[in-house]
Amino acid sequence: MTGLDDWLGGKLRSLEHHDLLRRLRRNSRADIVPFCGNDYLDLSHDPRVIEAATQALREHGAGSRGSRLMAGQLCIHEELEAELADFLKVQRVLVFSSGYAANVGLLSSLLGKTDAVVADALNHASLIDGVRLCGAEARAFEHVNSADAARHLRKLAAKRHRLVLSDGLFSMDGDIAPLAELARLATEHDAWFAVDDAHGLGVLGKQGRGACELLQIENAVDIRTGTLSKALGAQGGFVAGSAVLIESLVQRARSFVYSTGLAPASAAAAREALRILRSEPERRAQLGERVQRLRQGLAALGLPVPKDATPIVPIRVGTPSAALAHARALEEEGFLVTAIRPPTVPTGTSRLRISLSTAHRLEDIDRLLDALARTITIKRGAVSHA
Ligand SMILES: *Cc1c(COP(=O)(O)O)cnc(C)c1O
Repeated sequence: MTGLDDWLGGKLRSLEHHDLLRRLRRNSRADIVPFCGNDYLDLSHDPRVIEAATQALREHGAGSRGSRLMAGQLCIHEELEAELADFLKVQRVLVFSSGYAANVGLLSSLLGKTDAVVADALNHASLIDGVRLCGAEARAFEHVNSADAARHLRKLAAKRHRLVLSDGLFSMDGDIAPLAELARLATEHDAWFAVDDAHGLGVLGKQGRGACELLQIENAVDIRTGTLSKALGAQGGFVAGSAVLIESLVQRARSFVYSTGLAPASAAAAREALRILRSEPERRAQLGERVQRLRQGLAALGLPVPKDATPIVPIRVGTPSAALAHARALEEEGFLVTAIRPPTVPTGTSRLRISLSTAHRLEDIDRLLDALARTITIKRGAVSHA
């Protein structure tokens, strides 16, 4: 009989053999410039955000002391939810302890075995897990291909409910979903429409309301989900929609009901970050300037430039070992860029994922481009963008 550790150790060795082992690494070098975070507006370290979190910590304690339905309901939760609802122009918002928990709680309580979900093949893992948990028939359409989504929807007319489900801004590809076409399809096929815009919030749209604002389809979405941990720089997640939707989640979403309420410091940090995000639109302009700088530089190097101008810029290199080698070479040059490998992305599409933030100086981006020019060894033609 194999012991637990023998069995698991074998699995780990196999991952390592295939260059698929992930490592928990601390960024301990002070001289290294990270191009791998999701703190797009540099709010996680804003002194006002830290001050708000500190005050909440003093006032409400380190934890919220229970499920929101037991002892854990705090005024800071209610204020954050009301302000998010005002910002997103929805009736109500419910905050969860993470974006992952929000998606899983939403999907598992909304749908059942007699329903169907039509979902982008590259949707975030939390959406995939939520769909698995609800037991609905799941159909993946080809990435950002609304014609393929239509093909699936036509076959699902007999289902009780249909849900069209997509990321807004895709986290590993940096492209934006064809939300207008998906909204139209949802209406045409009598389906509900949900968008997870974890990366778009604060980044896309004139006011920063995300991909739905950018593509002017906010009124056509039934449900929006997101996170407090990316552009808002804090921790936690949310679902936004009608008052009835949110009330039903309070009753039934298991990741909400059976989990401790969001920590007071996280809620207060997110609330202050939201206030800054709304009152300082110049941050989005600064981010846009950095995105343009990188795109122009990539074009000048003859490297592929992604279709959509967003702060997530993948450079596909193919195999896991190529991705690791390129990430290591960039690290030698003083830049932290994550190698993204399966199962996060499909086999054969391992990549470097560069992400930009307002914290980057334009010179940092120029130096990264110089380093890329030196380290990208694959044939230019062989690098395809996501
Ligand atoms: C990051 C992310 C999540 C999870 O959010 P957390 O708050 O980090 O749990 C969900 N959906 C998408 C699309 C994401 O990128």
